[in-house]
Amino acid sequence: MTIAGIVKTSGAKILRGGAFKPRTSPYSFQGLGEEGLKLLRKAGDEFGLAVITEIMDPGRVELIYKYTDIFQLGSRNMQNFPLLRELGRIDKPVMIKRGMAATIDDWLMAAEYILASGNEKVFLCERGIRTFETSTRNTFDLSAIPVIQQRSHLPVFADPSNATGIRDKVIPMTRAAVAADADGLMIEVHNNPEAAMSDGPQALLPDQFNEWMDQVRKIAEVIGRKT
Ligand code: PEP
Ligand code: MN
Repeated sequence: MTIAGIVKTSGAKILRGGAFKPRTSPYSFQGLGEEGLKLLRKAGDEFGLAVITEIMDPGRVELIYKYTDIFQLGSRNMQNFPLLRELGRIDKPVMIKRGMAATIDDWLMAAEYILASGNEKVFLCERGIRTFETSTRNTFDLSAIPVIQQRSHLPVFADPSNATGIRDKVIPMTRAAVAADADGLMIEVHNNPEAAMSDGPQALLPDQFNEWMDQVRKIAEVIGRKT
């Protein structure tokens, strides 16, 4: 609730929270399940934010559908074909994150699965890819944004938080994503990152998020985009 209030005040439109989390280690926090979905819905309703949450299992579409406005298909499930087909049968938007080792063609074909199954409400999110570079969590493939915009009509978002994994690198790469004409951004924010159950080191502090939103609006204006 605290974070929802903070991001709303700074101008965010959508609240993302994970109830079923795809953690690399089975011993890491896995999310609160349905209880988490209820909390996310409550926070979204209280602050007038749409909500988005990740789905990992085709058997959970119905459950998650009850609570969310938008489905997030995470990087690790970009080529989970049964899940893609299930998401093609619903009437709510799906955000497809790029697989960490997926080419742009692989990514567009994942989108095609959903579109071909009948759901046209699809958008993409560049979240960094695996390369030989270890200084950042992933390598943010900024040029994927103009490539997608040329090859596809689908909107493309950017996620500089997971792309860099480092709080002070999130801000410059966010500026770059806006300048590259991304259609939206997903940024992780936490008022007490040390206590975060996941991804604390890449979460922006509320003041940073606020300042960054100001910068985003200015950059967007220079390139003729509305925020
Ligand atoms: C996330 O959005 O926090 C996440 C798990 O992202 P990805 O699927 O891109 O790793
Ligand atoms: Mn995360």
